[in-house]
Amino acid sequence: MLEQNWWYTSLLNVRDPLQPPLRGDHEADVVIIGAGAAGLAAALRCTERGKQVILLDRNICGGSSTGKSAGFLTPDSELELSQIERRFGLQGARDLWDAPVRGIQRMLELVGRHHFPCDLVKEDSLFLGVGSGGSREVREESEARKRLGFPYRSYDAGTLRSILGSSAYSCGVRYPDCYGIDALLYSQGVKRALLDGGATIHESTSVRSIEGHTVRTHMGSVTAKEIIFCADKLRPSLSKYSTNVYHAQTFLSISEPLSDREYRTLFPDEPLQCWDSRLIYTYFRPTGDHRLLVGGGTLWSTYAANDTTGPAIIEQVIRKLKRALPCLDGVRFIEYWPGRIDMTRDLLPTVFRDPEAPWVHYVLGCVGLPWATFCGDLVARMVLGDAQPEERKYYRYFSNDRGFLVPIWLERVMGKKLVFTLNNWWAKYHQVTRPAQGPRASS
Ligand SMILES: Cc1cc2nc3c(=O)[nH]c(=O)nc-3n(C[C@H](O)[C@H](O)[C@H](O)COP(=O)(O)OP(=O)(O)OC[C@H]3O[C@@H](n4cnc5c(N)ncnc54)[C@H](O)[C@@H]3O)c2cc1C
Repeated sequence: MLEQNWWYTSLLNVRDPLQPPLRGDHEADVVIIGAGAAGLAAALRCTERGKQVILLDRNICGGSSTGKSAGFLTPDSELELSQIERRFGLQGARDLWDAPVRGIQRMLELVGRHHFPCDLVKEDSLFLGVGSGGSREVREESEARKRLGFPYRSYDAGTLRSILGSSAYSCGVRYPDCYGIDALLYSQGVKRALLDGGATIHESTSVRSIEGHTVRTHMGSVTAKEIIFCADKLRPSLSKYSTNVYHAQTFLSISEPLSDREYRTLFPDEPLQCWDSRLIYTYFRPTGDHRLLVGGGTLWSTYAANDTTGPAIIEQVIRKLKRALPCLDGVRFIEYWPGRIDMTRDLLPTVFRDPEAPWVHYVLGCVGLPWATFCGDLVARMVLGDAQPEERKYYRYFSNDRGFLVPIWLERVMGKKLVFTLNNWWAKYHQVTRPAQGPRASS
């Protein structure tokens, strides 16, 4: 297998050349740092409202997590609905699930309006239970969906076989309004829409510091009324808020196109995007041209401080998946790539306005394209004064001073990796944050 991000091949037909790096000193209404799903959503909203926007990225648009992702567009990211409900109650679950749902809707709206190609395919989500623990999690998920009145279908091991070519899973819960996407091509589509709308984009432009209203890059600067910060892999030298984020490493691989027989055996009913109930889960979905994307990792590689790049981990994931899905036995996987997802201690995004510089708005640690799109768009609408008053609640859910099981100061003793892992585990399986206990409202 070749180590290469498969989505790069989709750039071969892209019309836009690389946008030049920023040189010299410039001014704008809004400068946006980072052109992943969050920064692109923020930039497009501001551009649509006629603001003079400059978007900066040290890579290309979508060149980091967004353009490496598997392109599952599902509201479920690292937190299942039942886990959110346990923590925040029914109303909290409704509020929070609505955020990525709206992120997906916004992405669909942009694809529809600007007509760009991005291999958008409709694929229901299927959460698969492994063993008795998995059955319990799937049941909890079904019950949470029922309580909230969200559509779903439950499957036991027998009925599951009518929609998936496997007898390895104990049960599953399926729900609609989910999609698969080539998120790198999507980023290029939004980039085109931004350029057509009059925004200025500088790629290969590394932001070094923010001084007052001025963003300094390696070859220039932008001074703006408002600064929206959506960069990833934050270093302390760029922002003191780098303490808010750590990362999880995951691996992806793509197969050659499945034969019609293999495809129909795997998905006898409709294409599905699937993941299982293990803590370090395996996930897979078909692309529009019937290749299979497979992702996963190991506990050790997920939370490792430094990247692991060899093929051994993803080869192990593929071997395990082939045992669960025997129809894949002869399928060849041709490329793989690792990627790091920024995340916070409790797997919810962090969105806030810098109290010392209220013109600087942060969107950090969004796990999932829909969450990132929603948060980038929300912050832009806040900046523009277009957000609904009730949307201020998201600044409460996503505030940067919310509480965690293991306090941040202990990182000095225990290390960031261990403290993040413990807090992730706590947030997923045990944390209860009823609104009354929730962090203060501020925006
Ligand atoms: C392998 C992999 C698979 C994934 N699969 C899925 C999936 O199937 N579905 C899903 O919903 N999510 C998935 N994710 C997660 C998802 O990709 C991210 O949660 C999402 O893309 C985050 O978007 P973002 O805009 O916040 O960050 P990013 O996409 O990381 O964007 C941040 C941008 O900031 C730029 N930047 C950083 N520092 C600077 C600087 N100093 N100056 C200028 N620019 C800077 C970066 O170049 C980057 O483009 C996956 C992630 C990975 C890595």
